[in-house]
Amino acid sequence: MTTPMRLKPTAVLFGACLFVTTGPVWAGDKENALIDKVVATYGGDKLLNLKSFVVVDKYNSFRYGQSQSPDEVDLHAGHSSVTVDLVNKRKNFRWVLGSKEDFRTQHQLFDGKTGYSIKHTERTLTENAGMTYSSVDRRHMFYLDTALVLMLNDNRLSASYEGEQSYQGTMHDLIKFKAEGNPEMTLFVNRENGRVGKMQRDYWAGGYFNYSFSDYEKKQGILYAANNYVTRAGQPYNVSVSRKIEFNKDVSNEFNKPKGYGSPGGKSLDFSKMSTTKLADNLYLVGYDWGFSIFYYTGEYFIGAGGYKELTQRFEAVKAFVGVDKPLKYQVVSHHHNDHLGGMKEAFDLGVTFIVAKDNIADVRRMAKVDIPDNRFIIVDGQGTYADGALKVLDFPNGHATHNLMSYFPSAKTLFSADMFGSRQASGVDNGGESNKKLRSALKQAGFKVEHFAAAHSGRVLTAADLDKSTGPVIDEICPADWAICEGR
Ligand SMILES: [Zn+2]
Repeated sequence: MTTPMRLKPTAVLFGACLFVTTGPVWAGDKENALIDKVVATYGGDKLLNLKSFVVVDKYNSFRYGQSQSPDEVDLHAGHSSVTVDLVNKRKNFRWVLGSKEDFRTQHQLFDGKTGYSIKHTERTLTENAGMTYSSVDRRHMFYLDTALVLMLNDNRLSASYEGEQSYQGTMHDLIKFKAEGNPEMTLFVNRENGRVGKMQRDYWAGGYFNYSFSDYEKKQGILYAANNYVTRAGQPYNVSVSRKIEFNKDVSNEFNKPKGYGSPGGKSLDFSKMSTTKLADNLYLVGYDWGFSIFYYTGEYFIGAGGYKELTQRFEAVKAFVGVDKPLKYQVVSHHHNDHLGGMKEAFDLGVTFIVAKDNIADVRRMAKVDIPDNRFIIVDGQGTYADGALKVLDFPNGHATHNLMSYFPSAKTLFSADMFGSRQASGVDNGGESNKKLRSALKQAGFKVEHFAAAHSGRVLTAADLDKSTGPVIDEICPADWAICEGR
């Protein structure tokens, strides 16, 4: 599907009655009629003339596939505030995650042109080239039916009627659309009252995200669901606790960058394009976006680590780079989180033997959706040496995952890890405090003389000196005093 142009129907431009030939024929009559009905339900002209809103949500999220242990599902409490300037396409996203005792904050700002990550504890402001108007709020707009209706209306060109379906006992009309920078979404529109009962979109690992809306309320003539519940691949994902919303608030002062903040790490690096980098003899780092793999070529076969989806693409890239067509014999599985297991089916199809912690075998099979035979697994019990000493593996259980296998290539004194030690900044490193001290001593104890640190989420390779720099005392997280969502912390 092509990216739609940002057109508004004449009714929007002139604020005319919505049902009188809104005219534009870029989507079919059926689509236009349905969109008009939804827009009218959500406030008609009041919705179309909306200039800004602030939505504050409290919710709980279930960490299926991202919990610390593969045997349990962790719960995270979230409290978010998104300020949206619809006229100038600006957003301010504030987020507090965790309990009163143990929380972290995130602050992201998109000023109409550029995205910034702001850290109040460290007093830093970092330009983020990959951040957009759509992504700055970490997709919190998906939780707000009113925002989805606005997106649908702005993207009529892409809309297609997908038939009817009974949902929660009521007939709904389905309409699919695509907004720039967002995945395709299908809205389930209640035929009786024109409300959006549900939004559905694909989940990359199979199945759908389903966002169900309920407890509709009207404020300043604009409709919104006060409650939402999200499932992912059929499992509970997000449960809303409370919602506060304000429409047409004066938000003109909401998009100023904080003054006096430093930018020690420079800009965030741009990893939007696939790259293959030779790190040392026979050792290569390949990937883009958030998914990188390391490959070691023994002369007869390759050894890989880094399990993101599109593993095949990365493997093809390294073979082309080296100029050989040899098999991927071993694939090291770092830990059980879904994102790092996205490429397991591909690894299986490539014929690898998995090097894995015993407790994570079930998750590899689950994500590969194949009952991989036992003889395709080599179990790491703490530590192991493979491929005639070309690869050493160390299990480093920590707060992120009960098992996390790190791959060490002694000939290049290079370690590859996932969710442990890495940076996507142009320079500098974040302070990891005590946990990085533990990492450093575990490596020393294992006899790994690491000089270079590669990681699954970055194309940047760090040094032993960087690890030393990241072991200072960690300052307590600050929740900014002027954030309403910080109340009580
Ligand atoms: Zn992880």
